[in-house]
Amino acid sequence: MIRTAIKILIVMLCMLPTAQAGSSEIHSAPTARSIPSVDSPNLFLRQVENSTMWKLGAIEKRLQVRLESEEPAFSDQLRTKLIRLSMWGPLAGFSQWTLETLGDSATARRLLFFAMPFVKWMSSPFIFPVETEGADAAKEVNTAFSLISKLHGQGLGVSLDNVGDASLSPQEALNYRLYYRTLIENFIENESTPELAVSLKLSALVHNLKRAVDKTDPARVRASRNEIKSALKELLKTASSDRNKRIFIRIDMEEYAFKDMTLEIFREVVEENPSLATDAEGNLRLGVVIQAYLRDSAKDVVELGKWAAKRHVRVPIRLVKGAYLVHEREQAAKENRQSPVWNYKPSTDANYEGICGYMLLNPNTIEPAFATHNIRSIARVMALAENLELPKKDIEFQMLYGMGGPIKKVIVAMGYSMREYIPAGSLARGLKYAGRRFRELSNSDNALARTMRGDFSFASGSPPAFIGEEDLKDGEYIQKRLNEVLMRNNPDPRTKP
Ligand SMILES: Cc1cc2nc3c(=O)[nH]c(=O)nc-3n(C[C@H](O)[C@H](O)[C@H](O)COP(=O)(O)OP(=O)(O)OC[C@H]3O[C@@H](n4cnc5c(N)ncnc54)[C@H](O)[C@@H]3O)c2cc1C
Repeated sequence: MIRTAIKILIVMLCMLPTAQAGSSEIHSAPTARSIPSVDSPNLFLRQVENSTMWKLGAIEKRLQVRLESEEPAFSDQLRTKLIRLSMWGPLAGFSQWTLETLGDSATARRLLFFAMPFVKWMSSPFIFPVETEGADAAKEVNTAFSLISKLHGQGLGVSLDNVGDASLSPQEALNYRLYYRTLIENFIENESTPELAVSLKLSALVHNLKRAVDKTDPARVRASRNEIKSALKELLKTASSDRNKRIFIRIDMEEYAFKDMTLEIFREVVEENPSLATDAEGNLRLGVVIQAYLRDSAKDVVELGKWAAKRHVRVPIRLVKGAYLVHEREQAAKENRQSPVWNYKPSTDANYEGICGYMLLNPNTIEPAFATHNIRSIARVMALAENLELPKKDIEFQMLYGMGGPIKKVIVAMGYSMREYIPAGSLARGLKYAGRRFRELSNSDNALARTMRGDFSFASGSPPAFIGEEDLKDGEYIQKRLNEVLMRNNPDPRTKP
């Protein structure tokens, strides 16, 4: 009896939010911030690693309590078992093919009409159902606002995405843009939610994005890039029709082939439309994503920071690890060039942590958001922020809708901001996306899947480090930049690392 009471008390304490998270910010005002000086870069990094272990311990303790006390409903347990079964060895290929076929073909959906409610139920935790096309689309987007309000009530921020892959026709691209425009227009009319953050993909914003990087045809490249820029400008113009409204547009990052073009377009749109691209407080309304699994990701962050410094803005960067690993490696092998992706997972993790440090050490030029489900990476960000005396509420984590619910609750309860990335849209457009989530959750090596089973062993031990000759050599870049910026805060040359 007493043990049960104590357990309930612990659960209640864990649920207490220590700060109002999520709803309060898309971006804080770009006021100059100073970072405390450090005694020596090496000592600072050792202290951060010690704090990381403490933070990790705190996360694990809170998670353990939640995982033990929050028994999922029977239907959720059943769904998890069915997802695992569908992704089990011999069945996985067939399940993936079925989801893709149902997603791509209206005929297949009609023929298998009896199976669709089941498919919908299986995918429902990962996709928010909204009809984004057709006559009712304008009314339907309003349902997203009730979801945003509900999640704000739970201390979560939201970034809405129109789920789906590349637009397969010019009409699909127009529908995609219309969805975002309607969302922004309705938000401006709607008083129930304080902010609107959306994420979009350039491959869906225009049809045939490959034309924007086709080196054999400069005229097509120009035309395609102009089309992308004018689509983004139109959305920014809609957002600016009420300059006081908190509206933010994030350009998701896709394949490596589009990376430089995406970053160039982002910079050009901001440079060419300075007043549309900033809100009443001077914050950029447009942001980008950097993938830490890329060898040149740290260089891109440094360049974006320099660009932002020249323009007296903070560049909003969501740091992810990267979702196209297999594709990038296959493509590089096909084209007989070095893979743009690190050869080893610990190198990706080490680079992620290095970039986290660099971003937090440059708060006047970079507005970071840390998107990861990995509790070790999360603990590192918390430790860095604490050692740099940055307020918890200014540290924004991001996670996907339907993934790692208990981790989100723990992060919010610890006082940090958490934003959920919500893929919204019709079932058909979301099926491939749902298939990717099924695969992740059923992969027994996946860090998130292990965390959700209460297995935290992958996160303990020594900090991730670059390994292998190639990764070690390319990994020197972020380590050098990090030391440089730490030395900037420590002008005493005797403490050189
Ligand atoms: C809110 C949100 C938004 C996102 N937006 C984007 C986006 O715009 N673009 C995008 O590409 N992804 C995006 N992602 C997905 C993200 O890139 C990761 O794929 C996903 O979050 C898993 O990484 P993790 O840190 O959560 O988990 P972890 O398990 O710690 O890391 C898994 C990741 O490590 C890397 N990795 C795995 N194996 C290896 C290996 N052998 N060698 C080198 N690296 C390896 C891969 O990037 C893999 O995804 C987003 C994720 C979130 C949560």
